[in-house]
Amino acid sequence: MSKHSPWGPVAPEPRSCSLTEVMSEQLATQLEEENKAPPPLTGYDLMLAKMLQMQFDREFDDQLLREEKKFNGDSKVSISFENYRMVHPYEDSDSSEDEVDWQDTRHDPYRAEKPQTTPRKGFTGKGKNITTKHDAVTCGRKNTARMDNFAPEVHVGDGMGMDLKLSNQVFNSLKQHCNSEQRRSARLHEKKEHSTAEQAVDPRTRLLMYKMVNAGVLENINGCISTGKESVVFHANGGSLEEQPVPDEVVLKVFKTTLNEFKNRDRYIKDDYRFIDRFSKLNPRKVIRLWAEKEMHNLTRMRKAEIPCPEVVLLKKHILVMSFIGKDHVPAPKLKDVLLGSEDMKTAFYQVLHVMQQLYQECNLVHADLSEYNMLWHEGKVWLIDVSQSVEPTHPHALEFLFRDCRNVSTFFQKRGVSEAMSVYELFNLVSGLNIPVGEEEEAEFMAEIEALEKRNEDHVQRRGKKTFPASCEDVGPPLQPDSDD
Ligand code: ADP
Ligand code: MG
Repeated sequence: MSKHSPWGPVAPEPRSCSLTEVMSEQLATQLEEENKAPPPLTGYDLMLAKMLQMQFDREFDDQLLREEKKFNGDSKVSISFENYRMVHPYEDSDSSEDEVDWQDTRHDPYRAEKPQTTPRKGFTGKGKNITTKHDAVTCGRKNTARMDNFAPEVHVGDGMGMDLKLSNQVFNSLKQHCNSEQRRSARLHEKKEHSTAEQAVDPRTRLLMYKMVNAGVLENINGCISTGKESVVFHANGGSLEEQPVPDEVVLKVFKTTLNEFKNRDRYIKDDYRFIDRFSKLNPRKVIRLWAEKEMHNLTRMRKAEIPCPEVVLLKKHILVMSFIGKDHVPAPKLKDVLLGSEDMKTAFYQVLHVMQQLYQECNLVHADLSEYNMLWHEGKVWLIDVSQSVEPTHPHALEFLFRDCRNVSTFFQKRGVSEAMSVYELFNLVSGLNIPVGEEEEAEFMAEIEALEKRNEDHVQRRGKKTFPASCEDVGPPLQPDSDD
């Protein structure tokens, strides 16, 4: 026979390998598998694992106890299996009934299939078949049922359906875990709450705000735009109101209801003879509502005259919802903060002049807190906001307020280099249509004239009698607190 196979070259024989080699390879793989630690358990998985382990240990101990009894029998000398127990007796605090009784499910009307529970006397049955409340099965079922009373975020599963019997110890440690989890989550939640602007208002107000979201008027409330002395302003997304869509972006102006603010305002209202009757009858919270109501009325008047200003959406107690001046959550800048070219500044000035004239002549209003803080620059226009304190020209101090407004406007535009910005006197005359002469002594004379006009107006009002004044919230005096940067 030739050394060469006639059917071609023969494939080399596989290298032979000893049994020990195969064994060691298998062993290596096996070891590797074993070394691959399972992912660590966390949260409820861990809790469940611990729970099962404890249950297992308990069963083991029960078995041990039975063995011990059997081993010792009636012997006078007994051997203790104590050291072999998984759960040491002092850990097994059966005396923790108090804790277990933390919430009883016995009176739960929603429980379809109640587990058999032990009545108050502590045992059931008769003679030999007595079951005490310490019976492991009864107690275990009871504990399983109690798990339903854990916080809703704890997923307890269908322990009842599985006829799971939880020992007191397992139950207690589960409950402890849940309690500490709840505390932790409450802490986290609290932190979150503090970080949101809603904290800037009282719980009553927050409830009102949530109700608006619940009713669908608002989609959601996003955050705080401003916290001032008298109000907190929030940005929100509109939903719909009586099937009418609410603007996509709105603001909630929440008038502050604290006693301090109320007192500040009180000083300026109580001297107004027209409101003594009505005002004294109102409690502080209701007075604050007047301010919100007043802002609403004033804005409505202004919208009618087509003055650029927010559109009222809804008034709910001391919360006024109105359209948002700005875009994509960014509020329009105040005139004091916006950097405008000289042309835009000039345009802005003429717009303000025009708006002041409209306000006085068409809306029969004096802003009474007009300044670069309460004018926003949006889409190339000046928008007026913050009109809760605006009054009618018949208010005893309306002309003084108008003069103050004019001074703010005139000073601001002059400082910004608008040469067309006239003096406060000229502006006052242009807006009011009154032609008070500007003499040598300037301000003193001018103010004297203004006060004389106010006095004449007041006398006229008194002659008509105060009853003729509709004591509507529209006539409530202003708080006289000019805005500031703080
Ligand atoms: P306050 O009486 O606290 O000054 P404002 O009405 O002036 O109340 O509002 C405070 C701030 O909130 C304003 O300076 C402005 O920046 C912002 N703001 C108020 N209303 C609106 C609105 N409709 N759109 C955009 N921003 C607004
Ligand atoms: Mg303001």
